[in-house]
Amino acid sequence: MTSIAENVANVRRQIRQAALACGRDPERITLCAATKTNGPAAIQAAIAAGVDCCGENRVQEMVQKMEAGAYHGAPLHFIGHLQTNKVRQVVGKVELIQSAGRRNLLEALEKEADRQGIRQKILLEVNIGREASKSGFLPEELLAELPEFGKYPHLFAVGLMAIPPAAAYPGENLHFFQEMSQLFVDISREKYDNVTMAQLSMGMSGDYLEAIACGSTMVRLGTAIFGPRNDHPA
Ligand SMILES: *Cc1c(COP(=O)(O)O)cnc(C)c1O
Repeated sequence: MTSIAENVANVRRQIRQAALACGRDPERITLCAATKTNGPAAIQAAIAAGVDCCGENRVQEMVQKMEAGAYHGAPLHFIGHLQTNKVRQVVGKVELIQSAGRRNLLEALEKEADRQGIRQKILLEVNIGREASKSGFLPEELLAELPEFGKYPHLFAVGLMAIPPAAAYPGENLHFFQEMSQLFVDISREKYDNVTMAQLSMGMSGDYLEAIACGSTMVRLGTAIFGPRNDHPA
C-alpha cells in the first residue's frame, strides 16, 4: 500500500520545483486533494499530511463522508458535475464550487444562495477542449456571460476551472493550459460585478507540473495522492 503522507510530501516537492523553475512562489499554489472513491481514513491522512483542501465529485458521497467527519480540518470544495436539483445539498456546505459551468446552474446556485442569505464562492468551469461530452462554458460563451454577472449578487466568481481532454502523451495539453491562462489574464483586466480572478484551477495527477508552468494556482490531485482509485474504499 502506498503511503499517503509520502505521496503528499512528494507532490509538494514537485510543485515547489515546478513553481521555482518558472519564477513563481510555491506558496501561492493550492493543493486540492480530489477525494472521490476514497474513504474517511484516507482523506484524514491526506489532511494530516497537509493538503490545502479537499474536492469531492458526487453529492451523495460527499454528504455521507461529511457526516463521517472525513473532511474535518480542511476546507471542502465541490469539483464534480452538479445537477440543478442537488444545489441545496452543496450551496453553503462547501467553501468553493469549482464546477459552475452553465447558465441554468448559475441561476439555480444564485436562487439557493439567496434563499440561505449567503454569498457562495464559485469557479467558472471552461470547456477548453470543446468536448461535447464535457460541461463548462465555451470561452466565447463565458465572455458573453460575464457582463451579465450583476444578476448574481449571491454568487462570487473567484476564478476559472478547466479539465482538458485526457492527454495521449506528455505536453499534449500544454496549449489548452496556455489558452486557459490567457483567458484568465484577459478576464482579470476587465471589471465585472461579482467576479474576480484569484484562482486558476487546472492540472491533475498526469499533467499538474505542466499546468503550473502555464500559471495554474490550484491543482486537483487524486491518484498522485491516494494511488489507484480502489486503494482506500469509502
Ligand atoms: C478525479 C478528478 C481529479 C483528479 O484526478 P487524478 O487524475 O486522479 O489526479 C481532478 N479534478 C476532477 C474534477 C476530478 O474529477
